[in-house]
Amino acid sequence: MNESHIFLEKNWQTALQTAITDPQELFQLLDLDEKLLPAAYAAAKHFPLKVPRSLITRIQKRNINDPILRQILPLGSETKEQEGYSKDPLQEKKFNVIPGLLHKYHGRLLLTLAGICGINCRYCFRRDFPYAENNPGTTGWNKALEYIANNPSITEVILSGGDPLIVNDHLLVELGQKLSKITHLKRLRIHSRMPIILPERITPEFIHWCSTSRFKMILVNHCNHSQELNENVAHAMQSLVKAGVTVLNQTVLLKGVNDNAQTLIELSENLFAANILPYYLHMLDKVQGAAHFDVKQEVAQDLHWQITQQLPGFLVPKLVCEYPGAPAKLSVEHLTLFTG
Ligand SMILES: *Cc1c(COP(=O)(O)O)cnc(C)c1O
Ligand code: SF4
Repeated sequence: MNESHIFLEKNWQTALQTAITDPQELFQLLDLDEKLLPAAYAAAKHFPLKVPRSLITRIQKRNINDPILRQILPLGSETKEQEGYSKDPLQEKKFNVIPGLLHKYHGRLLLTLAGICGINCRYCFRRDFPYAENNPGTTGWNKALEYIANNPSITEVILSGGDPLIVNDHLLVELGQKLSKITHLKRLRIHSRMPIILPERITPEFIHWCSTSRFKMILVNHCNHSQELNENVAHAMQSLVKAGVTVLNQTVLLKGVNDNAQTLIELSENLFAANILPYYLHMLDKVQGAAHFDVKQEVAQDLHWQITQQLPGFLVPKLVCEYPGAPAKLSVEHLTLFTG
């Protein structure tokens, strides 16, 4: 048996409950310079540290520039207010027709199942989103289901969050049953970071649900660097593909994590080797506290052009950004249509 299996928790829920939340513990486990600890505490006060224990084995000790560490380590620079950055960069509150439901684009909408995630990514555009006010609960589901049932143009529901796979399989099955009664729905999509950070989340029950659902199922993973992939992730993806799920990936372009062509090329290659197709490469959403991750638009376009020249077309993710009020995610070339 592969060594990495030793670190697999029997139960993904236990893994979540025992996640690391104390900066000091993270510093000790990874042997990091304690000089950065007070700033880590200050930043974690605003947006807590949260990282599943098993992910630590994918991080290099004593390396402050480790690409996974950079995504989870609270830093002093988060606490500095930055001009041009806001708390709700996508102005999502405006599109919240019904709590838990976000209908911005034609034919598809987001249903936010949970306000929390299995990991707290420091660059997250939802770090300031008012989840408490936006938690659908079971009554919210009924309203959301009613809205979908009354809108025949909607053919795809996207389960999102927070992280939708933080809810248990029983709840997913129950929601899936309700959705499957709405005859104009064709596809059910899940946007989740869980299968990458805790591949044991892809339980036999989940696989069974995917393979028996009447929907075309799509999983959009969220992986930013090859180092996040391992054998357990590959196993999970293989079972999903066997169950008929289309498996994609979205990446956020992040300074100091993946902002060079070689890293992005390796990511695409390794995703494909693990049965995952690159879908989107997102520009950072300008949320307060994440400015140190920003990659300038010219640099992003140049990187994208470099990888386009070195990869087959199907391994090149679309470089996109979100623009409030736009009818779709904009490929960066289309941005000028909206900004003039
Ligand atoms: C990203 C997103 C979608 C999905 O967009 P696709 O381009 O279909 O992947 C749908 N609704 C909202 C609100 C989104 O932010
Ligand atoms: S998993 Fe996604 S939604 Fe959750 S904190 Fe990370 S980036 Fe944000």
